[in-house]
Amino acid sequence: MVTTPLTNLQARDVATVLHPYSNLATLPQTGSLILERGDGVMVYDVDGKSYIEGMAGLWCNALGHGREELVEAAAEQMRKLPFAHLFTGKSHDPAIALAEKLKEISPMNAAKVFFCSSGSEANDTQMKLVWYVNNALGRPQKKKIISRIKAYHGVTIASASLTGLPNNHLDFDLPLSSVRHAACPHHWGFAHDGESEQDFSKRLAAELDAQIEAEGPETVAAFIAEPVMGAGGVIVPPEGYFAAIQPVLEKHDVMLIADEVICGFGRLGEWFGSTVLGMKPDTVSVAKALTSAYVPLGAVIIPDWIDEALTAQSAKIGVFGHGFTYSGHPVAAAVGLKTLEIMERENILAQVQAITPHFQKRISAFADHPLVGEARGLGLVGAVEVVADKASKRAFDPRKAVAAKAVAFAQEEGLIVRAIGDAVAICPPLVISESEIDELFERLGRALDRAQDWTVKENIR
Ligand code: PMP
Repeated sequence: MVTTPLTNLQARDVATVLHPYSNLATLPQTGSLILERGDGVMVYDVDGKSYIEGMAGLWCNALGHGREELVEAAAEQMRKLPFAHLFTGKSHDPAIALAEKLKEISPMNAAKVFFCSSGSEANDTQMKLVWYVNNALGRPQKKKIISRIKAYHGVTIASASLTGLPNNHLDFDLPLSSVRHAACPHHWGFAHDGESEQDFSKRLAAELDAQIEAEGPETVAAFIAEPVMGAGGVIVPPEGYFAAIQPVLEKHDVMLIADEVICGFGRLGEWFGSTVLGMKPDTVSVAKALTSAYVPLGAVIIPDWIDEALTAQSAKIGVFGHGFTYSGHPVAAAVGLKTLEIMERENILAQVQAITPHFQKRISAFADHPLVGEARGLGLVGAVEVVADKASKRAFDPRKAVAAKAVAFAQEEGLIVRAIGDAVAICPPLVISESEIDELFERLGRALDRAQDWTVKENIR
């Protein structure tokens, strides 16, 4: 590994900051990319070098950087009432107005909104609600939750259990015993030879049915799914997937939780990914783009029947014993409201729909690149998956980290993208223009070419 000496700031960083999702062994040699400011889809490091933010941060900075209106919304709320909570019969206008707005746009028949500060907290809350509500409904044995291999639902104990990735389980003593993982709906990766997308969907639905039968339907409470899987590698479900899965869930009285933490608020061209993919969720988790990531905010949207069960339980025991200090933080709620107002005013959904074909055309073109096995995506999110052999789909030795190398080259080219295993994920701010998309993919192309040359030079196969 060729490394340059760390700058003073990089040295202070690695000496003090425990970095999430980083290789803690190599970071002291490579150092962090230290960003200083952003403007639109661009970010700038402390040396003034510019990058296209091809990941919208962590799939979240939907409206891009430098939105004065969001800054003003936060500042105004901070001047007026920087903190107030929703516990013990208190409330405030920003939380009420945002709950109303989320109910209005929600993809299901929504009754109420529970606020939190992140996607993990939202999914943690989902799991607690599943357990609590089934106790309240007098069926305490109905507690298991089925997620999917490669799903990403967060990193708290419950949400990391729902996540279906080995690095979030191994050595953390997870998942919790009530969580199961069903097959990953990745046609390119897991379909049988010659199996159509529809047939693959039908097979996965049949496998899910068998899994629920084997567990005992009276013990299975919920199925959780992202419309498009994000942090598991940007996996778009095969045609007919949710249409095939849903009758299985209905048959066994298993509720569907939609994790809209990435897909929510325009990523796929509609308010929610659920409507794009024909999911009919009972409850929904949101976070990230809800505030365009200017401040942390998450939420769980619940239907009448859950609200009624919670209320009935409170009538019995006196309190709904769940909530965070920052549930409905007024500054976060004010920024959330302003984000949704801007999205409506600027017609962001229509803008995403209009620009999507161009974005997807540019991604698809990488299918011809010698390093790329699959180029995939939906809406304004996608990935290219590197392979050692295109015909057999054989993967590179994971220790060679070829996708990570391509991402490092992209960074040199002035583009931030993310390696997830063998996939390079792309998820730009929703406000990206056609010319910015072109520039993004030019830089990605150069990075992939350099990664290809590197594999040849290093004899990596
Ligand atoms: N669900 C999904 C679909 C996500 O992509 C993420 C974060 N990448 C989470 C949940 C967890 O959100 P957070 O990191 O805010 O806890």
